[in-house]
Amino acid sequence: MKVLKFGGTSVGSAQRMKDVANLIMGEKNIIVLSAMSGTTNSLVEISDYLYKKNPDGANEIINNLLHKYLGHIEELYSTEEYKQKARELVTAHFDHIRSFTKDLFTLFEEKVVLAQGELMSTGMMDLYLKERGVNSVMIPALDYMRTDKNAEPDPVYIKEKLLKLLGEHPEADLYITQGYICRNAYGEIDNLQRGGSDYSASLIGAALKAEEIQIWTDIDGMHNNDPRYVSGTSPVRQLHFEEAAELAYFGAKILHPTCILPAKINNIPVRLLNTMQPDAPGTLISNQTEKGKIKAVAAKDNITAIKIKSGRMLLATGFLRKVFEIFENYQTPIDMITTSEVGVSVTIDNRKHLEEIVTDLKKYGTVSVDEDMVIVCVVGDLEWDNVGFEARIVDAMKEVPVRMISYGGSNFNVSLLVKAADKQRALQALSDHLFNRK
Ligand code: ASP
Ligand code: MG
Repeated sequence: MKVLKFGGTSVGSAQRMKDVANLIMGEKNIIVLSAMSGTTNSLVEISDYLYKKNPDGANEIINNLLHKYLGHIEELYSTEEYKQKARELVTAHFDHIRSFTKDLFTLFEEKVVLAQGELMSTGMMDLYLKERGVNSVMIPALDYMRTDKNAEPDPVYIKEKLLKLLGEHPEADLYITQGYICRNAYGEIDNLQRGGSDYSASLIGAALKAEEIQIWTDIDGMHNNDPRYVSGTSPVRQLHFEEAAELAYFGAKILHPTCILPAKINNIPVRLLNTMQPDAPGTLISNQTEKGKIKAVAAKDNITAIKIKSGRMLLATGFLRKVFEIFENYQTPIDMITTSEVGVSVTIDNRKHLEEIVTDLKKYGTVSVDEDMVIVCVVGDLEWDNVGFEARIVDAMKEVPVRMISYGGSNFNVSLLVKAADKQRALQALSDHLFNRK
């Protein structure tokens, strides 16, 4: 069995839903859907109004959204019977959302509101498939997807419940389920964070030991550089899980970083595919490396670099521990680190506690801060006994001022820190030198 996940834009209109139906019919797989595009954002907006005790603001968005859904229903179904069923389904969800405009609104109610998008998209797809004569079976995510007391997915529970639910429907032509939503350790409705449908697909794939996890979006796989900034990018056909993890973390929007680990641990290949071009090969992510190959470049914005120089670091023990402890105290993750005999530079992307951090660091040395920086990350099979890749990367950057360079933390990436103003030319230079050299 395979797990096929379709993102918000892939189910974003009646026509797109029909296209997805054509892709999934004929094979007994498990289909994971996001909410229709824009829906989760609207549900967040509704919740914001309700937190601010503004039911009129919330009602206006609810009415607009309901109106849109009724339009999709007209277009999606061909029989009055199914239009009516779909209207009843969608109206019930909107009535549920509306019920929260009258009472106290807390985090708990918000989670329930946020869950309605996936419940509607899957319900609509299920009805559409039934109208077309497919015996689709709904497997409700709220019946098996669960997090534990640490808010981490509970793989043992998920596996046991999911296998049981699937086993109850051997006659199914295919199974449909919701991405993103789950229950927490107390049985309350919760979610796997924004963009979490990829994570759902990966957790389901791991639980079922699926043959493959397919993530369907609207571009043809992971590109070797960011097409918004660089001309002449091309799709990467094959990536190692570690390479994909670096790219997903450092800015490639196509795949949510949390999705990698469950698939990697269980050795289940992840394939990124394009709903607009279903026959294109896409990108295959697996435990295979392509020897010696530099694969792709990605960039992470809004980075702040902090340098701490201590005259006393020479032969000092405990200096780094003290520095890192300060970041830990303010729950601020560090992305990149470089060291010298007299100091250390680190980068962060969460500036919330920057001032306090800088004040505390001043106890241990001279501190300087560079804002508006970008981490550019080069990914590939970069084992240290492969020779030459460092030279090619540094050569590409010969015209660009580089604030930090980091290699050796993994065999799969080299990171460079540059000014945001130099981002585009750094990315373009790397593409020209690493991928497009004639
Ligand atoms: N619908 C959710 C969101 O927009 C989850 C997802 O699409 O992955 O964040
Ligand atoms: Mg999404």
